[in-house]
Amino acid sequence: MIPPFDVDHEYEQDDDNDTFLFEGLQQYVLTHYPNPERLDCLDAATLRAFVYAPETLDLEDRKFLHVFKCAECTRELMAHRVERDQRLELHAARSARPNKSTRRAILKASTAMPLLLFFLVLL
Ligand SMILES: [Zn+2]
Repeated sequence: MIPPFDVDHEYEQDDDNDTFLFEGLQQYVLTHYPNPERLDCLDAATLRAFVYAPETLDLEDRKFLHVFKCAECTRELMAHRVERDQRLELHAARSARPNKSTRRAILKASTAMPLLLFFLVLL
């Protein structure tokens, strides 16, 4: 039986994105590295690119290590990720929802079907 919160178990059971590890690291940075003066912070466009287009950044550049020691940058990255995930969910919901012409076709079909069945029963 696994205890309710077993850190070792949680790490072993982490998903392919290492979400548990990543969230633990974020919490550690938020708690231990406050930087209210925003010393050496990455600019807003770079932080945004970190989330939306990381392939455009040279992540081997040592300047990016800053985010591991800055609660403010970490907080901004978290906000960008929430915004990105909300946009993705909205996009997925819109894609799954039939468009107006499809809805009209479904409505016509659902209206016509009982009439068609009625005539088939009569014949
Ligand atoms: Zn920073």
